[in-house]
Amino acid sequence: MKHVEDGSLVAGLRELVRGRVIGPEDESWDAERAAWHLLADQRPVAVVHVADADDIGVAVRFAGQHGVGVSAQPTGHGATPATDGAILLRMGALTGLSVDLAAGTARVEAGARWRDLNQALNGSGMSSLPGSNGDTTVVGYTLGGGLGWFGRKYGQAANLVRSFEIVDADGEPRRVTAESDADLFWALRGGGGDFAIVVAMELALVPAPEIFGGRTMWPIQHAKELLRTFAEVTTTVPDELTLWIWLLNFPDVPFVPEAMRGQWAVALDAVFLGPEDEARKLLAPFEAVAAPLMSGTAMIPLREIGLIAQEPEEPVPGLLKTVLLSDFDAAAIDALLDAAVPGEPSPLFAFEVRHLGGAFARADVSQGAAGTIDPPYLLLAGGFVAAPEMGAAVETALAGLHDKMKPWIRERMVLNFATDEELASLFPSGAVERLAAIKHRVDPHNTIRSNHPVG
Ligand SMILES: Cc1cc2nc3c(=O)[nH]c(=O)nc-3n(C[C@H](O)[C@H](O)[C@H](O)COP(=O)(O)OP(=O)(O)OC[C@H]3O[C@@H](n4cnc5c(N)ncnc54)[C@H](O)[C@@H]3O)c2cc1C
Repeated sequence: MKHVEDGSLVAGLRELVRGRVIGPEDESWDAERAAWHLLADQRPVAVVHVADADDIGVAVRFAGQHGVGVSAQPTGHGATPATDGAILLRMGALTGLSVDLAAGTARVEAGARWRDLNQALNGSGMSSLPGSNGDTTVVGYTLGGGLGWFGRKYGQAANLVRSFEIVDADGEPRRVTAESDADLFWALRGGGGDFAIVVAMELALVPAPEIFGGRTMWPIQHAKELLRTFAEVTTTVPDELTLWIWLLNFPDVPFVPEAMRGQWAVALDAVFLGPEDEARKLLAPFEAVAAPLMSGTAMIPLREIGLIAQEPEEPVPGLLKTVLLSDFDAAAIDALLDAAVPGEPSPLFAFEVRHLGGAFARADVSQGAAGTIDPPYLLLAGGFVAAPEMGAAVETALAGLHDKMKPWIRERMVLNFATDEELASLFPSGAVERLAAIKHRVDPHNTIRSNHPVG
């Protein structure tokens, strides 16, 4: 650690890479080390804005020679303390995207965000498998599996990767496919960022010629009936329809529309791969519950898919907890309402239940480490910690929710939504041992670090 203390590590990096290098001595250090996830307070040894893939190779070799780790962190949406002490690589220069509609593929570089890929494919009738937020990188999301809007029809995003362009733990560029290195290819498709720095990847596209979607909101007093309708409808809907329901306790912050600040509401987010009349028939039971406060559903272009859930794209001080549920029956709904106490003041701003199932749960021998996800529902809850003293109240409320929902909480979780879970719960059974063995083979000195280490 001598290099860290005397600053020679930063100076040495500056001599070797073409991109900008920032170290603890620099005035902008706090802004540079910050992640999108503002509560992360991460402590890297240097931040490198790589200029190109060669810079990545140089930084990885340098890290190996100096006994420090190196970690790709394009946005910090998934930041954890696991990358403390490492060189953080920012990928903002690597935003290349190219689409080959005839081949049904897209090549996506490591700094490209979902909003960029959705825009590039807009109007083409083809799509990849985007999630709720346009600001996450396609590569970071996909390395962790990728639970997106079209996943009930097509599964996790990781399973559609055809090849990876990587810099390996020796700093050497390589192309990884099922044929070149079946184990590493399997690990990269859902095992996270522990195995290599990914420069770009090639994804297979899926057909999405017609997309209906949007958000409908109701007054909070209809919460119980709407949650019950959601539970009932999701037992029979086709894989083309994806529904996420929210109890929202809108905070008094600028990104919330003024009329909703400080109010509770129920929101139903829907995406249907098909025509409007079919979608409206499937959603009719919700309309029958009560007149909505606001109805924002329509045929939409792909580029708007990342806006449906109305998540913040700017960095936020949020504390989130996610679990997978074995069921969402009447008793689970009562337990959720008991914990959330909608309408009352709460340190939590959102309780979201996503319907999974469909292709998420269907096994296929070609799948990567993300595997299948059997539990049919995902529950996510979160609160803002605008000042440090608010943290304890948010944590207590999240723990209270966890206790109330315990009978339905499955041991299995997913990597992309992980915080401090046991590693074994983040993957299908047997996968952790295989991932650890692959990590040991491809990176025996643990030079490459990820937010959720497998080795
Ligand atoms: C508001 C919000 C909404 C979300 N919605 C969804 C959703 O709908 N579905 C879903 O599946 N997930 C979702 N996520 C989780 C998100 O996909 C993960 O946090 C993902 O890791 C973000 O990737 P990133 O590159 O933007 O983040 P970062 O925090 O920058 O990266 C996360 C990790 O990915 C790895 N990584 C990233 N790039 C590379 C690379 N080029 N090479 C090697 N490793 C790399 C590293 O290990 C890094 O620690 C959401 C997260 C947030 C904050």
